[in-house]
Amino acid sequence: MTDTSTVSPAPASTSLAPLLQSSLEAQRQAGGRDAAALGALRAAASVCRGGLERRWEATQQRDRAQLESGSARRVHYLSMEFLMGRALGNALDALGLRQTLSDELARQSLELGQVIEAEPDAALGNGGLGRLAACFLDSLAELGLPSFGYGLRYRYGMFAQGIRDGAQAERPDDWLAHGDPWSVPRPGLHYTIGFGGRVVTEGHGRRWEPSERVRAEAFDFIVPAHHGEQVSTLRLWQASAAEPIDFPALCRGEIAAAGQHQLQADALNWVLYPDDSTEAGRVLRLKQEYLLVAASLQDLLARHLEEGGRLHELGLRNAVHLNDTHPALAPAELMRLLLDEHGLSWDESWSITRQACSYTNHTLMPEALETWPVRMFETLLPRHLEIIYEINQRFLDALREQGGVDDARIRVLSLIDERGERRVRMAALAIVASHKVNGVAALHSKLMVETIFRDYAALWPERFINVTNGVTPRRWLAQCNPGLAALLDQRIGEGWRRDLGELDRLRGLAGDAELGRALQAVKRANKLRLAERIRRDTGIVVDADSLFDVQVKRIHEYKRQLLNLLHVVARYQAMLDAPEGEDGRGWTPRTVILAGKAASAYQTAKQIIRLSHDIARVVNSDARLQGRLKLVFLPNYGVSLAERIIPAADLSEQISTAGTEASGTGNMKFAMNGALTIGTWDGANIEMAEAIGPEHLFVFGRRTEQLAELAALGYDPRLQVEEQPRLRRVLEAIASGAFSPGEPLRHRGLVDGLLQRDRYFLLADFADYLAAQQRVDALYREPAAWAEACLRNIAGMGGFSTDRTIAEYQREIWAPAQARAVREEALQPRHAG
Ligand SMILES: *Cc1c(COP(=O)(O)O)cnc(C)c1O
Repeated sequence: MTDTSTVSPAPASTSLAPLLQSSLEAQRQAGGRDAAALGALRAAASVCRGGLERRWEATQQRDRAQLESGSARRVHYLSMEFLMGRALGNALDALGLRQTLSDELARQSLELGQVIEAEPDAALGNGGLGRLAACFLDSLAELGLPSFGYGLRYRYGMFAQGIRDGAQAERPDDWLAHGDPWSVPRPGLHYTIGFGGRVVTEGHGRRWEPSERVRAEAFDFIVPAHHGEQVSTLRLWQASAAEPIDFPALCRGEIAAAGQHQLQADALNWVLYPDDSTEAGRVLRLKQEYLLVAASLQDLLARHLEEGGRLHELGLRNAVHLNDTHPALAPAELMRLLLDEHGLSWDESWSITRQACSYTNHTLMPEALETWPVRMFETLLPRHLEIIYEINQRFLDALREQGGVDDARIRVLSLIDERGERRVRMAALAIVASHKVNGVAALHSKLMVETIFRDYAALWPERFINVTNGVTPRRWLAQCNPGLAALLDQRIGEGWRRDLGELDRLRGLAGDAELGRALQAVKRANKLRLAERIRRDTGIVVDADSLFDVQVKRIHEYKRQLLNLLHVVARYQAMLDAPEGEDGRGWTPRTVILAGKAASAYQTAKQIIRLSHDIARVVNSDARLQGRLKLVFLPNYGVSLAERIIPAADLSEQISTAGTEASGTGNMKFAMNGALTIGTWDGANIEMAEAIGPEHLFVFGRRTEQLAELAALGYDPRLQVEEQPRLRRVLEAIASGAFSPGEPLRHRGLVDGLLQRDRYFLLADFADYLAAQQRVDALYREPAAWAEACLRNIAGMGGFSTDRTIAEYQREIWAPAQARAVREEALQPRHAG
């Protein structure tokens, strides 16, 4: 493998015109417009990087002053995923270079749009969790908080999704193929990371002697604020072999053996989610998680000491935030560093660790809570296992001392799961070692303390809080929807970019018919652009005047793309039955748009993609519908595709089973861009409905408590089918091969899954979903009323900026006062943990 990623980019330049000219000339001679666009991208990135690096230097100075004055802590946001997307448009806006570049390109007969489109997405993430981390960096910069995001520099991010014969085909996402013009390599910054080996006693302490070592090298990606010159930093670690090739082996002709270290280190960087269906894949994943944690904490410690910080102040000056359980090794590693490398006492180390650490939970699905076999720790991380055992021992001893806890409770609370093969519960470690644990929307945070973390919440109710997610309005409104941004600027001023609460001023204008028409004109232009993209990528021709009904997100049973497909089939059947419409008023033309990746080992999700293509083939070619219903699956969903799709949506499908979607952030992006939501009472949909006014959304379906009741009574999906002839007809058509005549049984398994268990209650919500879809049709027939509802939706979204989210994290979790409170709490007797 040729690794272009280690090639340093050209030195950053400062002035655009000469660089652009020479670069374009060279590219033009080399071949064609694509090459010219790539050349321009490289030149523009280089200029931007120069500006960003200067801001970076200034920010570090400023941060030091803030830290020394004690007015802030530096935030270290550890995340296995950062779904950054493209960087050029954002950098141009932040640096105020958009117009300059656009003019310069025009002189070279290139369009800025083409150049922006030439950039590959940095897709170092999977879905919402990774995109949240990316939005957080934007807001950390915007709010001027001293901060570093820490992640891994995957060579091939997630995977690129193609569609072959209607099925998902995965290939490596080679995002570094043309180099990485944004990275700032930090050649002096590297740390050694150990694995395996043994632990020896040394004096009063213990010391780990790893048997394998890799080097972690830093690459920085600078994230600028849009108001002010401060930046945040995404520092990505790339592993390389700590030891050179085995020369004697090479001389013996044993080439593979000679390079074994290199290969092992390299593999740590290959992909985001190694297939964890094999032991080797699981080992790789745990090693990746440790690589992230160990390199980031060494970096933190080195910086703290270099800035003259004293060890016992480490937690007062530094926050370590765990984005989900993937970096939950952090407290164990921080303890190891403080105890073994710096000789602090257990109590001192523990107090610092708890001051520093905080943890966000992102899912209630029990199967998504990470655990690792003790056996794997023994082999890979023996010293960490000792430390985890001791944390556990002290925690459980303190509980027993308090009294009132029986053995059953101890078994539930223990960091070690003793049922079957012994395993370390990573979420439990994160909770015990953190001073704050948060959920990501009000309902999720409530369910978190009532269900999965019930027993810990009973011990420490004040530790658990809610901080509802958001999205950055710079990318998800200003950049992705320039038409709407210009309209907002004109009607409510430009302040919303910085204070999204300003959107509230639209409320008073919602009835303004002229504004409504202007909004519709913007939407129509966005839809035309998307229609062109759909034609290009799928060959399907869609009508920009039809209602664009959109569900884009990872494919998962709980998100219920299948329920959406059941509606499409029901609609198809009804259109054939009653061509003039069920009420004689005709059918509202619809284009149903899906996009999303299925995890490579998730067969049911892949089957749903397959079904959507089968239905699309039949429906899209049925002339009787006269083009009034189309179904489209757009391949390779990612940030850039989302930026194209979302501004063009009329209807946003947020239809997860109530109680399963932690927050959702796609829902927020759509509403901000003037789409109406059809959604369940789930995640952040609830808070959106409350902010907008529930009458301006299409809310349907059973609520969390109602589903729990239904389940308790013994839910039988077959009864739903017996009672609902329309549902029966839909399922029969799918199960009997109406959409897969060449292989009639192809989708039988999906239907059987619904009839036998229907874990996510699709059939229970089907009738109400159809009723809500009818309300959608009816409102869409009244353009003025539809536009007014869109305006009310936008107006209500002021609270869903990550600027608000980050301000809450700062106040409730990261502020120096929060760290001081931990120290005071530790001084109180009788406190477990
Ligand atoms: C916002 C976003 C998500 C999250 O979408 P949900 O609908 O909240 O699941 C996933 N992927 C990408 C590319 C996004 O931009």
